[in-house]
Amino acid sequence: MKITKVEPIWLRVKKFNEPCEWGEDAFILKIHTDTGLFGVGESDSAPAVLKAMFIQPSTHGSCMSLSEVLLGQDPRNISKIMDDLFEASAYYGRRGALIHALSAIDIALHDLVGKIYGVSVATLLGGARRDYLNAYATFIPDRNIEITAKRALELKNEGFKLLKFGGDGFGAKAQFDIDTTRAIRKAIGDDIKLSIDLVGLWKNYGYAKERFKDFVEFNLEWIEEPVPSENMDCYARLSENLPCKITGGEALATEYEFDEFCKKSRVAIVQPDLTRCGGFITMKKIENIAINNGCELVPHGFSTQILLHATAQFLASSKTCNLIEYSKSTSSLFNICNPLPCEDGVVKISDCVGLGITLNEEIIKKYEIKF
Ligand SMILES: [Mg+2]
Repeated sequence: MKITKVEPIWLRVKKFNEPCEWGEDAFILKIHTDTGLFGVGESDSAPAVLKAMFIQPSTHGSCMSLSEVLLGQDPRNISKIMDDLFEASAYYGRRGALIHALSAIDIALHDLVGKIYGVSVATLLGGARRDYLNAYATFIPDRNIEITAKRALELKNEGFKLLKFGGDGFGAKAQFDIDTTRAIRKAIGDDIKLSIDLVGLWKNYGYAKERFKDFVEFNLEWIEEPVPSENMDCYARLSENLPCKITGGEALATEYEFDEFCKKSRVAIVQPDLTRCGGFITMKKIENIAINNGCELVPHGFSTQILLHATAQFLASSKTCNLIEYSKSTSSLFNICNPLPCEDGVVKISDCVGLGITLNEEIIKKYEIKF
């Protein structure tokens, strides 16, 4: 059994001037075999940069095209292939975008091997330990506070028990941030958990500590990425001194970065993203790192339905985690495959083959940018 073709696909919405809340682009990967079966992966990164890593000509043994490393390999040897790729890209890789690309490969290989053996990815990861996940909804606040409050109420009425919002500058304007949060809290009442995502905009320890005072009244479940993830000392001081969970880590890649982050930042919740951290194999290692450092693991996920399905498969097999981030993106790329059903804030884990996804080829045809 051999890998015969690798298809890196760059999708982009904005060329059609469509209104879009996040999710303007996507990187999808198909890995084909001589059996006729293929696997699908995704990375939430810079798609054109990732595509270049697959189609570039190889220079030498440590600067190879990712496609060239994959072609001819037996797809069932996932760990061996992932090690080969890490070594063959060492000149331009080891962290960042290269690990994002490897994440897409790892996900596609797991989907493919699941199809080869007729089992779910959760089974490949050691077996499903639960049949449902609790879901929390993430959304980006509008500039119009009334629209934001209405959106939050709709999500509550859909059955979500925890909402998170952030992005599009939230965190940078003190009065707007307080007014937005107050309007949301008023709309949803006190019986729903609420978290904010600051995307690093609270700058430093002193500023963050001061700004937090305004949010005490809203009884927040967690504060996500108050400062950039490099500032681990700041995370540690905030984690020790604020009476609220501090979370972060969505931008990090490899088990090495997560090991350092969990040890130094002392966050309550670490949030690796399957499409960036390195894929399923790395995510399993990060789960152990989190357990050993007393962190809860709640994966990040705000891309397409492929990531939602992949995260659900990981969480089904997880020893300790059962909370999935259920993004409420309005992007035309979001439903690139069959949606992961979520009812009343709960995602049921059903037995499936691979990731359990079928791609919508029409979306690919409409939005693919070729080069
Ligand atoms: Mg975030």
